[in-house]
Amino acid sequence: MCEAHHDELWLAFPKTIIEFEERFPDEAACREYWMKLRWNGPVVCDSCGHDRTWALKGGKLFECARCHYKTSLTSGTLLARTRKPLRLWFRAMWEICVHQNGISAKDLQRIMGFGSYKTAWSWLHKLRRACRGEKRAMLATIVELDEAFVGGKGSEKSMVFVAIEVGGRVRMVHAPNNTEASIKAFADKEIEPDAHTKTDGLASYNERSLSERPHEVSVQTKAEKRTGDALQNIHWAISYLKRWLLGTHHGAIAPKHLQSYLDEFCFRRNRRKTKGVGRIVARCMENLVSQPPITMRQIINDTEKCRFFQITA
Ligand SMILES: [Zn+2]
Repeated sequence: MCEAHHDELWLAFPKTIIEFEERFPDEAACREYWMKLRWNGPVVCDSCGHDRTWALKGGKLFECARCHYKTSLTSGTLLARTRKPLRLWFRAMWEICVHQNGISAKDLQRIMGFGSYKTAWSWLHKLRRACRGEKRAMLATIVELDEAFVGGKGSEKSMVFVAIEVGGRVRMVHAPNNTEASIKAFADKEIEPDAHTKTDGLASYNERSLSERPHEVSVQTKAEKRTGDALQNIHWAISYLKRWLLGTHHGAIAPKHLQSYLDEFCFRRNRRKTKGVGRIVARCMENLVSQPPITMRQIINDTEKCRFFQITA
């Protein structure tokens, strides 16, 4: 990811809907872009790695000149086995990114004119999976940490760990509990070892759970509660998250899907200052190509809840 040709494509990506429509008027234009993103040159055989192939089925399949294996345009990517034109996927990705707060499956169904809600829902989950950074640098300098509870009403509340760089990036993870071990797993994955941490002084934030990072406790005084907030960055992030879950997604989120929503929220939040929505779309496109396929069953059984805790718990 983020190879030189990706950066070139990223810079040249349409910045407005007008440019987008001019750039991707038909399937051929989308296919050309997709191939450049995936191979940046001749198609490479999935089976033997040979780079001489013949296009079949109007460019959806490529037969290897050496082993005759047929490589598909989308094999091994998040769009593997799709029967829908790339043009529709491109358009859906644009729609998802262009709405600053994201869209629901119902919105996508309406915009794309899908017959079934289930189709829209599975498209949204595939595209959302691409709307996450893969290689992520750890949070640095000054990092505030806290936990929040989301959900409720009919379903039980889920705990979310939040870490935010002062004036910078945010990370959120669906947490099983707030024991020292859980906090340590989160901190060690997301925060630089020498970052300065700030918390509200809850007992489980300590030398052990924060792996001896410098730690400042900001207990709110009564005066601060009235006038300001010692951990205001994080409290803002949490209130944005809650509003986003309620506003865009109507709060209707199964706990097992929560992590994928948190990832999308952080992705959007961390890119809110990126110039032009096109740049965000372009990065998500790279992920569509570089991330492995996902089946409907995998989406439904999304076990991503607490996924990194499974290693440490
Ligand atoms: Zn081959």
